[in-house]
Amino acid sequence: MFELRPHFEWRGLGFISQSGLKLSSAYAAFDAELRYTVPGIRVADPKACQCGEVLKGVIKPWECKVFGTACIPERPIGTCMVSSEGACAAYYNYGRFARERQVV
Ligand code: SF4
Repeated sequence: MFELRPHFEWRGLGFISQSGLKLSSAYAAFDAELRYTVPGIRVADPKACQCGEVLKGVIKPWECKVFGTACIPERPIGTCMVSSEGACAAYYNYGRFARERQVV
C-alpha cells in the first residue's frame, strides 16, 4: 500500500531522505495529495523553540530556554508542547518527579 518518499520534511528536523511513506500508485485514487490541491504550506518553528534538539536528544526538554515559562501546555510555542504525548508536554506534566529524584 505504501512506498518510500525520496525525502520528507519533518518539523524541527528538516529534510530527511527516505524517511516518510506515501500511498503507492496502486492506491492513487485514494490519495488526497493527488486528488486535492494542497498548497505547500511550510510553518517555520518559532526562533525560541528547540524542538529539533529535543527530538534529536541533544537537550532535555527542561533545558530549552522557554520551557515552563513562555512555553507551557496551555500556551505552547513549539509542537513538542502541544499534545500530551509531546516530549516537552510530558516532561512538563510528569518530568518534575524524575528531576526531583535526580537532585536528591
Ligand atoms: S516545545 Fe516549547 S519547551 Fe519544547 S523545545 Fe519547543 S519552545 Fe522549548
